[in-house]
Amino acid sequence: MTQYDYDLFIVGAGSGGVRAANMAASQGIRVAIAEERHLGGTCVNLGCVPKKLLVYAAQFKAEFEAAAGFGWTVGMPTFDWPHLIANKNKDVERLHTVYRNKLEKSGASIITGRAKLLDAHTVAVGTRQYSAERILIATGGWPFVPEIPGKQHVVTSNDMFFLEQLPKRIVIVGGGYIAVEFASTLHSLGVDTTICQRGDKLLEGFDEDIRDFLAAEMAGKGISVLFNTDVEAIERTAGDDFAVRLTDGGKMTTDLVMYATGRTPNSSGLGLEALGVALDDKGAIKVNSCYQTNIPSIYALGDVTDRLNLTPVAIAEAEALVNSLYNHQDPAVDYDMTPSAVFCRPNIGSVGLTEARAREKYPDIDIYQSRFIPLKNTLSGLDEKTLMKMIVVRGTDRVVGIHMAGVDAPEIILGMAVAMRAGATKAVFDSTVGLHPTAAEEFVYLREAQA
Ligand code: NDP
Repeated sequence: MTQYDYDLFIVGAGSGGVRAANMAASQGIRVAIAEERHLGGTCVNLGCVPKKLLVYAAQFKAEFEAAAGFGWTVGMPTFDWPHLIANKNKDVERLHTVYRNKLEKSGASIITGRAKLLDAHTVAVGTRQYSAERILIATGGWPFVPEIPGKQHVVTSNDMFFLEQLPKRIVIVGGGYIAVEFASTLHSLGVDTTICQRGDKLLEGFDEDIRDFLAAEMAGKGISVLFNTDVEAIERTAGDDFAVRLTDGGKMTTDLVMYATGRTPNSSGLGLEALGVALDDKGAIKVNSCYQTNIPSIYALGDVTDRLNLTPVAIAEAEALVNSLYNHQDPAVDYDMTPSAVFCRPNIGSVGLTEARAREKYPDIDIYQSRFIPLKNTLSGLDEKTLMKMIVVRGTDRVVGIHMAGVDAPEIILGMAVAMRAGATKAVFDSTVGLHPTAAEEFVYLREAQA
């Protein structure tokens, strides 16, 4: 029998790779995990975690504004971006240590450097070569910026977490998760913010009512949202700012241009093409339902496979893979009712089908909606509203979609996802006694279907 250096060699120490490494190593599997940058990958270093810390910072603005209505005199708050970034960096470093300790404790070998596959069982990192029975690629994704004149002037979400100073003005290109989250955060931190979205709505894939509601709320807060507009070219001006030429003939001058136009799978430079690992036209690694590529000893999961690009999905896939390889369990992850959140203002949470998808799938559905001003805003004077929406299949009474825009929507929606996975009907929601006074209770008081 061939003797390999490792049973499992993992390339990429992001959310999926680290989960697989910890789970496998702690049950005695000989695991190595290679990472060229920092432990924790996008989520810890360039995504979820630092993003949420910035979102928290931004929320204070509304809290300061709201405080007066509740009797507080706050004075003139000032904000120090370098201080926030320094603290954020410290916390991310703390997480690196947590991740390292956990990997070491589970018994995985951490190998620092860029890995390249040499054959179906061999990986090179720097000058060293390692053999493994199985190789798992969990290298995630990377911001995509289209080819436009002046591309060298733009930044992406990767750079935003390390800006030395906040710009006074920013143009954000794109209308997806990253664009709306950064737009809300930067606007709250005092940056004059413009979104340039080539389509006619924000947040493709979300429920249409939520998309319209968000656009109206963002515009109401003073964010300039330009629809059906794309950037033609960007030039640096003599005054050291940027002239942005738009496809509709418009022009803008700004201090910073950020592109949030999607992410591409991190699959190049790994030796995959030479090995014949099948990729799709975006470079995503093609896998079967067991996360196995067309080369049986090579596996892939998470964003590099470009399916549901969310941290908890990569973690769920890593758990399923390790359980199937080493514990004879079913490798299938049930993606049904995977909730999704966007940490813009107002927050968005969503689970299940949009109204449009539900109408395609079921002949008869009922729509319940509630729009209201949260109790806190009666005294705060803030005018941010909340939208809640529930989609119910007539006949079976099953709740198949819940969508919310409003404070704490992501916190609320996860509980809704549990109920929906358990098969909750509208009658179950109706018979649940509410929790008063909360916004979430509105979901059990939705009585009148829309005409
Ligand atoms: P998204 O795919 O969400 O949005 C991309 C946006 O860019 C869309 O508005 C799209 O327009 C536009 N776009 C795409 N290509 C071009 C182009 N060539 N020129 C101009 N505009 C273009 O990508 P993001 O970058 O916002 O986020 C990437 C992924 O990261 C998300 O899909 C999500 O999975 C993950 N993420 C999740 C978060 C969360 O869970 N809270 C937070 C942040 C990221 P159009 O709609 O017309 O296609």
